[in-house]
Amino acid sequence: MPTDKDLADQLVDAVRDWVDRDVIGHADEFEHADEFPQAMYEQMREFGLFGATIPEEYGGLGLDVTTYARIIEELSRGWMSLAGIVNTHKIGATMIGRYGTEEQRQRFLRRMCDGSFRAAFSLSEPDSGSDAAAMRCKAVRDGDEWVINGTKMWVTNGVRASLVMLLAKTDTDQITCFLVEKEPGDTFEGIAASKQIQKLGYRGLETVEMSYVDHKVPHANVLGGDDGIGHGFRYALSALELGRINIAARAVGVAQAAFDDALAYAQERETFGKPIAHHQAIGFRLAEMATKVHAARLMMLDAAQKYDSGQRIDLEAGMAKLFASEAAFEVAMDAVRIHGGNGYTTEYRVERYLRDTPLMIIGEGTSEIQKMVIARKLLAAQS
Ligand SMILES: Cc1cc2nc3c(=O)[nH]c(=O)nc-3n(C[C@H](O)[C@H](O)[C@H](O)COP(=O)(O)OP(=O)(O)OC[C@H]3O[C@@H](n4cnc5c(N)ncnc54)[C@H](O)[C@@H]3O)c2cc1C
Repeated sequence: MPTDKDLADQLVDAVRDWVDRDVIGHADEFEHADEFPQAMYEQMREFGLFGATIPEEYGGLGLDVTTYARIIEELSRGWMSLAGIVNTHKIGATMIGRYGTEEQRQRFLRRMCDGSFRAAFSLSEPDSGSDAAAMRCKAVRDGDEWVINGTKMWVTNGVRASLVMLLAKTDTDQITCFLVEKEPGDTFEGIAASKQIQKLGYRGLETVEMSYVDHKVPHANVLGGDDGIGHGFRYALSALELGRINIAARAVGVAQAAFDDALAYAQERETFGKPIAHHQAIGFRLAEMATKVHAARLMMLDAAQKYDSGQRIDLEAGMAKLFASEAAFEVAMDAVRIHGGNGYTTEYRVERYLRDTPLMIIGEGTSEIQKMVIARKLLAAQS
């Protein structure tokens, strides 16, 4: 009888094989065209990845965070945007699973498992990112409804999503999370994807500005019901804490891909009568790259395993995200250097890795914000 661990390993292996076979050789086509990879998305649905961490009682696979992080690493090794297609959905499912009422869990989680009903996460605004609590988007109660007005920024998957986890001010100091249901598309009853953001990397999936004009949300869609009013910010931050493991996993995946390509190229390319891998400077560079990838993976897995064993992981997740994202950028740059002029062309994948890695440094809390979180935790442990 296979154990849960056997099944989890089998799924990670299946995703790895698929990435090797069907993603690595095709990602650039979609990335350069900024085209949504419909067939890859269908395959991720087929694997059950949209319901990966949703508990089995609501129809999901009920995987632990460690397995999920290993899957995200594999997806990102092929193409980081694939992880982005799943990630905002996972944040939404986590928030509903943890903080939703039982009625909301029943109503939303079941529909979210197969990935046809997808979630976006909308915290940031044009004038508030790191300082997210400075948001201006407002929700005003009108009987059994809330009326939403404001502009949100950087809504990844915002157009294709059927559900937006929307954070809005419900009073001067109160932020509440709303489950905004919509039809996929650019406009829906007072919601408009007002701008498609053109990005350096992380292409193939949409990131949009979304404006709300008198959009009405039923009171039944306040996350957590009456008890959730004013607690949305805490809910979002807690989901983002888990998100940091996910970003670290993405960073490890891209860094591994950059290292793999650099190692292969360094053995093929010859200068001064030998493969460049045999010049000590290149060998040392490869050694440093491999060391960073290994360390980043260990930190990411350590945070994930601690989370799965029920421990608080604010410190470990912050450290893993900080280290892995900065390491991925450095490793991607090293891979470009090792490819010489070829690394600067769109013929080789390393230019994509270099364009994708800054997002890990910025998204879900920049490196500076991670350092603030880490320092705060270190000091709190002293008092
Ligand atoms: C491609 C992409 C996709 C995204 N997807 C989503 C999404 O789906 N949902 C969502 O809600 N958001 C999303 N974001 C937004 C992202 O979370 C923010 O961009 C990020 O939190 C940084 O906020 P900001 O861009 O406003 O930068 P700012 O907060 O303006 O920061 C600018 C700089 O100042 C630094 N800084 C700020 N405050 C301090 C401080 N106190 N001390 C030291 N340095 C500081 C920052 O580290 C940064 O270097 C996305 C962003 C990108 C680029």
